[in-house]
Amino acid sequence: MAADCIFCNIVAGKIPSQKIFENDSVIGFKDLRPQASLHHLFIHKKHSKDVAELMKHDPSQVSDLFTAMTSYSENEGLNVKGYRIVTNLGSLAGQTVFHTHFHLLSGEPLSGFGA
Ligand code: AMP
Ligand code: ZN
Repeated sequence: MAADCIFCNIVAGKIPSQKIFENDSVIGFKDLRPQASLHHLFIHKKHSKDVAELMKHDPSQVSDLFTAMTSYSENEGLNVKGYRIVTNLGSLAGQTVFHTHFHLLSGEPLSGFGA
């Protein structure tokens, strides 16, 4: 837990979120400023600043995250409708929260590319 990290504080329940998924290692919650009619964020409960740092320390967390996202999507029928998964790393990509997260976008035709 990084005390000054907004997503660690969501994991700890100190900042409210609209949770749509939770298991032992991962939580999923609604993005505060949705960029599609379905826009959720999936994060590992263990802090890392981005997916490159995560891969250096514990690549199995990517498996935890994709297991969670594909299982959620299957339960919601999104695997039939279609969805997009995005992660941003650093300033060129516009990363604003430095706790690794994957955007899950769906619910409507997705134009362009990215979150
Ligand atoms: P990124 O630009 O990839 O770092 O994405 C960060 C995302 O986190 C943005 O889409 C924000 O809308 C979202 N966000 C920031 N704070 C919160 C929060 N407290 N609850 C839910 N989503 C948030
Ligand atoms: Zn964190």
